[in-house]
Amino acid sequence: VERLLARPRTPPPPRGLAARGLPARTIDGFLRPLLAALLCDPGLTTSSRCADLALRSFAGGRLCVPEGGAEVLPELLARALPPGTVHTGVRVTSVSTNTVTTAEHGEFRCRAVLLATDARAAAELLPGLRVPDFHQVTVVHHTTDEPPATGAALLLDADRGGPVAHTAVVSQVDPSRAPAGRALISSTVLGPPPPDVETAVRMHLARLYGMSTTRWETLAVHHTPEAVPTMRAPHDLRRPVRLLAGLYVCGDHRDTSTVQGALHSAHRATTAILTDLGARGSMHRADPLPATRAA
Ligand SMILES: Cc1cc2nc3c(=O)[nH]c(=O)nc-3n(C[C@H](O)[C@H](O)[C@H](O)COP(=O)(O)OP(=O)(O)OC[C@H]3O[C@@H](n4cnc5c(N)ncnc54)[C@H](O)[C@@H]3O)c2cc1C
Repeated sequence: VERLLARPRTPPPPRGLAARGLPARTIDGFLRPLLAALLCDPGLTTSSRCADLALRSFAGGRLCVPEGGAEVLPELLARALPPGTVHTGVRVTSVSTNTVTTAEHGEFRCRAVLLATDARAAAELLPGLRVPDFHQVTVVHHTTDEPPATGAALLLDADRGGPVAHTAVVSQVDPSRAPAGRALISSTVLGPPPPDVETAVRMHLARLYGMSTTRWETLAVHHTPEAVPTMRAPHDLRRPVRLLAGLYVCGDHRDTSTVQGALHSAHRATTAILTDLGARGSMHRADPLPATRAA
């Protein structure tokens, strides 16, 4: 990663990819839609270094989803801590180096505060923190008892006919996400969604999967206007996480705009906290409790 970051900047993809001699067919037919999907960035305005990092992660680990849903990962992390350590559903209204004030549960005194919210909430709690621009994402979930025969493959919109950027029969990847006999198809629209997104997606899915989708049942349409912080060049991949002794911030807005980036920034922040508290070296001492559910 360090070697990649030390490389000279190139134009954002796909111009940067073309400059490296990759054939136009490979770029337009595969890399462009893949990068758009990996970065949630339909216009590919992302810094070339961040795009390279995304491709590197894809090449090294391929794609995956957490078994049971996205919430399983934080649940597993929380389960590794002593019972009662994590409280959810508590809204923080202000923070300082030694106090956290909540909407419903009063005030907590502490030795250090690590703010791990999204970028906008972080800037509301700590005015002065930068609020980035965001990519918007719409996800449409369908179910059917006659799924397409594409297996666990991720279908990319290489023709850029839109509005769907990528789609997959997610229950083929993780069968726990649909009851027996039913399939879950999840499709993603990047950027501003068209006016009647449900109909437009259904029609596009019929073309992408090469089958009728009229009998597919729409389960949900989720639109997230501020889904992913943009990473235009020059993007700072190591935005400071230690604001002052006792006050720290982490999240996807301090690193790359991914779960991996959020976790990496959290690692940097907790290392800084332990150093400031003089407790360096104790980070990995506690053995996690045995997990009862596979990730
Ligand atoms: C539809 C969609 C698809 C995505 N797909 C991918 C993907 O495939 N791969 C990938 O790597 N990333 C993906 N992302 C991005 C990824 O979800 C984020 O980068 C990641 O969740 C960031 O983690 P975080 O901990 O920084 O912030 P968040 O996950 O946003 O967590 C912040 C938490 O802070 C809480 N909070 C906010 N304000 C307060 C407050 N005042 N008091 C208490 N709590 C508060 C929020 O409730 C939230 O739980 C996707 C995002 C979306 C929306």
